[in-house]
Order: sequence, then structure tokens, then C-alpha cells
Amino acid sequence: MISEKAIEALADEYAQEENSCYTNDYYGFINGFKKAVELLGSKNEIPQIKTTMPRVIAIDKAAEKTYTHKKCGAIIGYYESELKDYKKDHYDGSTSIIYYLQCPNCGEDVVVKSVG
Ligand SMILES: [Zn+2]
Repeated sequence: MISEKAIEALADEYAQEENSCYTNDYYGFINGFKKAVELLGSKNEIPQIKTTMPRVIAIDKAAEKTYTHKKCGAIIGYYESELKDYKKDHYDGSTSIIYYLQCPNCGEDVVVKSVG
């Protein structure tokens, strides 16, 4: 349950931290807070702001790829998003994108694939 006093205390804390006009910050906070509670339909509990951000449910191991580093023998598991890349220019004017990762066993940069 949020009392008027609790809202005022939050407003005071907020207004102290803001560098602009204290009074505007203080009453702006209170008005905004009360409006948010009113819009979200409850005066008794802290409103849970609904988020539409994507969230991770789980990591699908099926999407994991493997690469064997022939120099040290390590079988490296990785996801596409973990690859680093750089552009390589060729003499004929074309370019390739080189995808690589750092071998977690020996620390060497390992080229996994190149495109182009
Ligand atoms: Zn290695």
C-alpha cells in the first residue's frame, strides 16, 4: 500500500537528486506518480509496468555449432552471434567477411568461415 507520505518521500528523494528546480521536480513527480497509479488501475499496490522487451526463455543447444581447432584439438562450441568478424580486401577489388573466434583452449584466433 502506498500512502501519500510514501509518495511525498519518493518525490523528495527524486527532487533532491535532480539538478533542475526542486519544486517543479517535487510536484511533477507526485503528479506523475499518482497519474501512473490511476491509469494502471490500483491505488494500493506498486504498479507492475508491463514490458514488451524480448526475453530469453532458454538457450537452445541445437543452435550451437561446433568447430574443431586442428592445432590444439579442442572441439569448440559456439553460437553464430559469438563470432567476431572483419572485412578482408582482395587484390581483385572484391572483399570477404572473415568470421573468427578465440579458441578457449589455446587462446589463438581461429577463422571459422569466410563469406564472399
Ligand atoms: Zn586451440
